[in-house]
Amino acid sequence: MKVLVMNAGSSSLKYQLIDMQSHAVIAKGLCEKVGFDGSFHSYELGKDEALATIPLADHHVAVKEVLSVLLNPNDGVIASLDEIAAIGHRVVHGGEFFTESVVISDAVIEKIVACTPLAPLHNPGALMGIEACKELMPNALQVAVFDTAFHQSMPAKAYRYPLPDALYEEHRIRKYGFHGTSHRYVSQRAAVLLERPLEELKLITCHLGNGCSLTAIEGGRSVDTTMGFTPLDGVMMGTRCGAIDPAIVTYLISELGMTVERVNEVMNRESGLLGISGLTNDLRDVRAAAEAGDPRAILAYEMYSNSVKKHIGQQVFTLAGVDAIVLTAGVGENCDRMRRMIFEGLEPLGITLDLEKNKGRGGERLISTEDSPVKVFVIPTNEELMIALDVDRLYQQQ
Ligand code: AMP
Repeated sequence: MKVLVMNAGSSSLKYQLIDMQSHAVIAKGLCEKVGFDGSFHSYELGKDEALATIPLADHHVAVKEVLSVLLNPNDGVIASLDEIAAIGHRVVHGGEFFTESVVISDAVIEKIVACTPLAPLHNPGALMGIEACKELMPNALQVAVFDTAFHQSMPAKAYRYPLPDALYEEHRIRKYGFHGTSHRYVSQRAAVLLERPLEELKLITCHLGNGCSLTAIEGGRSVDTTMGFTPLDGVMMGTRCGAIDPAIVTYLISELGMTVERVNEVMNRESGLLGISGLTNDLRDVRAAAEAGDPRAILAYEMYSNSVKKHIGQQVFTLAGVDAIVLTAGVGENCDRMRRMIFEGLEPLGITLDLEKNKGRGGERLISTEDSPVKVFVIPTNEELMIALDVDRLYQQQ
C-alpha cells in the first residue's frame, strides 16, 4: 500500500509518497510560490532530482502537477492513481476538536475551518490541499493529522493560562502546543531504543529546529509543552522570541508607537537567534561567528542553550523525574556544540553526556554515558512517516 503525505502551506505544497511495507520514500517534492509568479516544483523520484519551473495558479493546479509527475510514463513511480490508497494531510491546528488523527468528512472540514482563526497562516493552506485532493483523487481515503492533537492530553493545570475564566470559556484562549507529530514520533522511537514500554516512561522530547518546542511525556501522553496558544511561546527560536514578559508587548505599542502588526513581525521574524546575533537565524552561521569571537553570536548561543536548559528543568519537575531526554530537528540532530552547552553542569542531576558520542553523526543514537541515570538520545524526526502510519492504521480500520 502507498500513502501520499501532504503538507500544504498558504503558498507551498510539500509531499512524500511512502510505501507502507518498507516505509521507503518512493517520491518526494515541494511546490513553491503556489499562486504567485515564479512558481516551481522540485522533486526526487528515487535517486533522480528534478526542478520544473511551472505556473501553479493554485493548490488544485499544484496537486495536478504532482500527480502528473508521479504518473509520468517515462520516469514516474506509479502506473495508476488507484495505487495511492490514502492521503494524509498535515493540519497545524485542530483546536479542542481533535485528540487524534481522523478520516476527513464534511464535519471534520467544518471543524478545521472553525479552527482557522487560531492558525490563520496555516489552516487555510491545508484546507486547499484537502479540497484539491478530494477532487483529483475521489477514491482515496483522506486523513487529517494535527500538530495540536497529541497535546490534547494535557491536564487543565498545564493548558490553562491564569487569565480571566471567560477568555477560556468564551474564546478558547489556552495552551494548545504544536509539533505534536514530531514529539509523538521521537517518543515512540525512544521507547524502542530503551527497550521499555512507552507506557512506563517519563520522557522530555526537544524539537529544536527553526521553531522549537519541548514536551513532557508521561506514559506516551503529553502532559505539558512549551509552545502555547500559538507557536511563539516557550524557548528562544531562530527568529521567534519565545516566552517574554507579556508587558513588553503593551510597552512596544504604548511607548514605542508600534502597530500590532509590527509587534507581531518583531516577535515572530526579527527575534531569537537572528535578533540577538544581528546576523542570521541559522545556527550554523551563528556558530561560525561565535567561534570567530563575535560577542553577539556568543551571547545568542548562550541564551539559546540557557533557554532550552531552563525549560528542560521545568519539565523534569513537572514529570517528577525523567528516564530519557530526546533531541531532534535541525539543531537537535546536528549541533554538537549546542547539545554540549544545554547539558553542561547537569551531572549532579544524573545527566552526563558522553562528549565523544555527542560529536558523532548519523541516525538514532545514545549520546549520554552508559552509566548516566538519565539517558540522552538524538533521534531524527520523521513527521511524514508518523502521518503515514496514522493513515495506514485508519485505512486498515475501514
Ligand atoms: P529545521 O527547522 O528542523 O529544518 O531546522 C533548521 C535549523 O537547523 C537551521 O536553521 C539551522 O539553524 C539548524 N541546523 C541544521 N544543521 C545544523 C548544523 N550542522 N549545525 C547547527 N545548526 C544546524
